[in-house]
Amino acid sequence: LTVLGIESSCDDTAAAIVRHEVGSAPQILSQVVVGQADLHKDFGGVVPEIAARAHVEKLDYCVQDVMSLAGLSFSDLDAIAVTSGPGLIGGVISGVMCAKGIAVAAGLPLIGVNHLAGHALTPRLTDSLDFPYLMLLVSGGHCQFLIVRSENEFTRLGGTIDDAPGEAFDKIARILALPQPGGPNIEKCALSGDPARFRFPRPLLDRPGCDMSFSGLKTAVLRARDSVVADKGGLTKKDQADLSAGFQQAVTAVLIEKTRRALTVYLSENPSVPAFAVAGGVSANMEIRAALETVSAENGARFIAPPLALCTDNAAMIAWTGLERFRAGHEDDMTLAARPRWPLDTKSGSMLGSGK
Ligand code: ATP
Ligand code: FE
Repeated sequence: LTVLGIESSCDDTAAAIVRHEVGSAPQILSQVVVGQADLHKDFGGVVPEIAARAHVEKLDYCVQDVMSLAGLSFSDLDAIAVTSGPGLIGGVISGVMCAKGIAVAAGLPLIGVNHLAGHALTPRLTDSLDFPYLMLLVSGGHCQFLIVRSENEFTRLGGTIDDAPGEAFDKIARILALPQPGGPNIEKCALSGDPARFRFPRPLLDRPGCDMSFSGLKTAVLRARDSVVADKGGLTKKDQADLSAGFQQAVTAVLIEKTRRALTVYLSENPSVPAFAVAGGVSANMEIRAALETVSAENGARFIAPPLALCTDNAAMIAWTGLERFRAGHEDDMTLAARPRWPLDTKSGSMLGSGK
């Protein structure tokens, strides 16, 4: 099967073609990601209207590019998959309209894909991995534990009740006058820091379950910074490094303890080959990644971290998820709607269960 995927739910316009024949490894035949960071940099965040316009302008070119890079025409495809939520609605609509246009013109089946399902199924694109596996999705917009049971069934064990860790990294970089994106810059700065100088809270560790909270940590770092500035009139490089290291250690500690709990729930179901996979931009952090790998090994689970380019937003994950869904018999029609919200886990345990 050969599937074209389209992604436009946030600030990246992306297209990709994935091919898979049963019995062999999936192949990404081509992919492009066009970012929009330049367009939004003066606004301190993604501006939905600007994002949607940019998607409309770039989608056609992205699709043309991946088709010619792969040397294929539409008649070589088996289906077209598109992110139909959740995300910024203008961008999602742009992608869905583009996909519908191609599906009608080329007479191809159309498959709507949940963006989070795309992240959650990426480890099956990059590694040979059987269901069910445990997944931690940790990015700028998301933080949640999922048991991935099939291409269509996800059980959410818990997640952040406020900010995502990537968002906290980005906000704290601003507080410490470090450049954006915050994650890699805080990580670099923390290398020379003393994590023990500031003791930041480990939110929600005293409560059972897998829910997390990161917004209080941000306030704690802000207070610590203000008291250093009040004492000394400013922040030295050493202060920045110590604050970064203390913050990163607190985030790691929370993620590790919650991962331990999520693994306990998952392992209690006795999966035959236990596996724990991570995705999302924050999984690029070496301290966090190493700690996750350790806790996974301690619990006898295989640890899987796809290459970073496939952990952040991309269309290969959408093409792949569309391919898995198509193979399982799912297909949408021209009534496919763009959804701003679309939680993966629902009472029925199916990602089709909500909003339809
Ligand atoms: P989503 O795709 O969930 O809507 P997003 O597009 O913001 O959100 P990603 O592209 O997966 O998320 O990841 C970007 C986030 O990852 C940013 O918040 C960034 O600061 C964070 N990040 C990137 N590298 C690191 C790192 N080394 N350490 C910590 N955080 C990092
Ligand atoms: Fe994403």
